[in-house]
Amino acid sequence: VQLGARSYDILIGRGVMHGAGRTISARLPKARLAIITDETVARLHLERFRDGLDAAGIGHVCLPVPAGERSKSFPVFQSLCEQVLDARLERGDAILAFGGGVVGDLAGFVAASVRRGMSFIQVPTTLLAQVDSSVGGKTGINAPQGKNLIGAFHQPALVLADTALLDTLPDRDFRAGYAEVVKYGLLGDAAFFEWLEVNRQGVFRGGAERDEAVARSCQAKADVVAADELEGGRRALLNLGHTFGHALEAAVDYHTERLVHGEGVAIGIMLAFEFSARLGLLPDLDVGRVKHHLTGAGLPTRLSDIPGQLPPVDVLMDSIAQDKKVSRGELTFILVRGIGQAFVERGVDPAAVRAFLEEKLTQ
Ligand code: NAD
Ligand code: ZN
Repeated sequence: VQLGARSYDILIGRGVMHGAGRTISARLPKARLAIITDETVARLHLERFRDGLDAAGIGHVCLPVPAGERSKSFPVFQSLCEQVLDARLERGDAILAFGGGVVGDLAGFVAASVRRGMSFIQVPTTLLAQVDSSVGGKTGINAPQGKNLIGAFHQPALVLADTALLDTLPDRDFRAGYAEVVKYGLLGDAAFFEWLEVNRQGVFRGGAERDEAVARSCQAKADVVAADELEGGRRALLNLGHTFGHALEAAVDYHTERLVHGEGVAIGIMLAFEFSARLGLLPDLDVGRVKHHLTGAGLPTRLSDIPGQLPPVDVLMDSIAQDKKVSRGELTFILVRGIGQAFVERGVDPAAVRAFLEEKLTQ
């Protein structure tokens, strides 16, 4: 990721975790680490990860939090900050996130905050974290008012994405992360989407296709982040599917696990394509291809795929209006002119969105 003096490497592949000790000491000599992880990841993978650090003589403390979105909270954040201080970590030391997007966002915000900023290393263990949340420097926690509303930009010094860690990931989480992989093809790289149409099964199975999919996704994200670190322009394209997706997540309550982030994104991507088609921006053929691909990956694509009662249109419209992507009362959406051709559309007519959603809610 090219960010001048704050540039960093993303190392990707099966087994890169085992060289972590050497890789880290080469970049942050003498640093001690506070490893923030969740209890599930700790149970499955922490011992082997620590062995590698021990072998390289890297001192560390482990700070596990309960698995799940609820840990992205003020109380857990406070407790972690205090534990890092209790462990006497100093500014030259580092916080290491060993887990999915929840752990990465939380640990990154701890790293951004303690002593006004400590070095930060990401060892993402979910597909979503490897292709998306570990790259780009967005960190934070949730507020009662909504997801990710408290946070900071804090870039990591290094990202180690060991694709073998994904072998233990539950299917549902793998599929959810895959929605973000597809997103990169759909927003700006039609050739990558076509490659996924051919190689999807290999990505799920593991092996060379998985490594390539993670690498191409990280490259896509790195390019956008390098061009627009603080989301003034191009970076907004990464929100394809997320305006609708976040509204759905918020409306169904992101603590219930009726809908995980990537599932909301999959439905959100479909809604963005269908809404664009409705505006006459792209052919129905493209909409059908995207739907076929997401469905084949086992992802939900319709509002009616969400289990339980659907949120009323007013609740969805309220969440859309509260989304961070709204500024000065204008609705901003990422729309598409075709596969691989997303663009930012400001001033979208709320009445058109409402009518569209009302119709989709009954399908
Ligand atoms: P997560 O961190 O909750 O992980 C999902 C589940 O998988 C958890 O139960 C976890 O314990 C388990 N797990 C993790 N690694 C595992 C492994 N290797 N084997 C078995 N189980 C494993 O969720 P996530 O989907 O990784 O991330 C979602 C979070 O990421 C959300 O909070 C979202 O807001 C955030 N996010 C942040 C950014 C960003 O740019 N910062 C981008 C996208 C999403
Ligand atoms: Zn996302």
